[in-house]
Amino acid sequence: MPDFAPATRLQAFLSRRIVTPQGILSGAVLVEDEKIRAVVSETEVPPDAYRTDFQNDVLLPGLVDSHVHMNEPGRTEWEGFLTASRAAAAGGYTMLVDMPLNSIPATTTVAALIAKRQAAEGKCRVDWAAWGGVVPNNQSEIEPLANAGVRGFKCFLAESGVDEFTKVTERDLRAALPHVARTGLPLLVHAELQGPIDSCTAQLRHEDWRRYPIYWASRPDEAEVQAIALMLSLCREFQFRLHIVHLSTAEALEMLRAAKSEGLPVTVETCPHYLHLEGEKIQDGATQTKCAPPIRSAENREHLWQGLKDGIIDFVVTDHSPCPPALKRMVEGDFKNAWGGIASLSMALPIIWTEAHRRGHSLSDIVRWMAEGPAKLAGCEHRKGRIAAGYDADFVVFDPDAEFTVTADRLHHRHAVSPYLGETLRGRVKKTYLRGTVVYDDGTFPGDIVGREFRGAHND
Ligand code: ZN
Repeated sequence: MPDFAPATRLQAFLSRRIVTPQGILSGAVLVEDEKIRAVVSETEVPPDAYRTDFQNDVLLPGLVDSHVHMNEPGRTEWEGFLTASRAAAAGGYTMLVDMPLNSIPATTTVAALIAKRQAAEGKCRVDWAAWGGVVPNNQSEIEPLANAGVRGFKCFLAESGVDEFTKVTERDLRAALPHVARTGLPLLVHAELQGPIDSCTAQLRHEDWRRYPIYWASRPDEAEVQAIALMLSLCREFQFRLHIVHLSTAEALEMLRAAKSEGLPVTVETCPHYLHLEGEKIQDGATQTKCAPPIRSAENREHLWQGLKDGIIDFVVTDHSPCPPALKRMVEGDFKNAWGGIASLSMALPIIWTEAHRRGHSLSDIVRWMAEGPAKLAGCEHRKGRIAAGYDADFVVFDPDAEFTVTADRLHHRHAVSPYLGETLRGRVKKTYLRGTVVYDDGTFPGDIVGREFRGAHND
């Protein structure tokens, strides 16, 4: 039986395990005109509906990743809408929010946003949206970018790694924050301060930078802790929505817990690599694991899991940030000069499910962390991240018990560089549906490219 049915016809997707906000149900998701009409029991499926029965496979809502570097336009040789969105569809993601940096131009002006939209035209296999950038002296672009449909803003307190996206100082932030606060949109912050990084790096300058412990020591917990403390005090003063990206140090958890109990509008994310890898086991020269902030100890990782369980960390996103293999300096094994970034769109769900299952978490937790939470940050929580009436008909057909080994052909992003190659993971994405249409089917990407940009109220 073909998976394709006319998009206007009523479709019924049946499963014994549909993960909904009301719990895990057996029944059918009724879909019409790209939307979920209802979740019903099997006996309530209208006789004229086109039926697809997934039996014992789980139906999860399409995942949402609010932290992706698509690098297009300008660095398409690193990644691109086509390859990132292909990896996303293979990984169960149906919505990506693109970071404002690593593309050229960086998305710090309305003109750059328009260039990005042109670059994305006809190339994105899943839905997407854009973050704008806050850099020194672009305050006058903040409100226009919001009016043009970005979902919020991103800034760096440490060097970003690319020349065209400059870090901000507290003074720059004080100029920008009144504008950010007026938009009502979140400010996403790379929270490491350059000062502690520079002083540690200087002390380590004569060391062997092929050794992972040297790179790890060059980006101390303190750089994150101090940056988060600064951002929390600015959040208290300016009352803007603060979001801490890729939290790596567990030493900041108590401070974040206190800020949340105080009622500050702060949210926190972490990434699969911090929840899975451990610094003690990273081999010398294994620059495919380099990211910033760095992967820390196994003990730190367990504290991050506890933070996620306690709700101090709100959700998990990939920070998919690929580059060509040469820039990873894998031949030299040079941690100092390698590009910092890990690409994991196609593997994040199995990585997190492998770890979560081991710790007794449920598929409903996965949905909260990898769909609902990021959707809320991006302001699309009424359309994405849930299997519920009125939502986009985005879902993943998932076998939570299957195991597989990560091989290059399963990655699907442009360059098959990954710290996960050779690992055995639990949970396999079998199909991904975007607004009722199958966009990934067991290693293939059928049909036309139908991903669209989400611009909030502008095209809702
Ligand atoms: Zn990033």
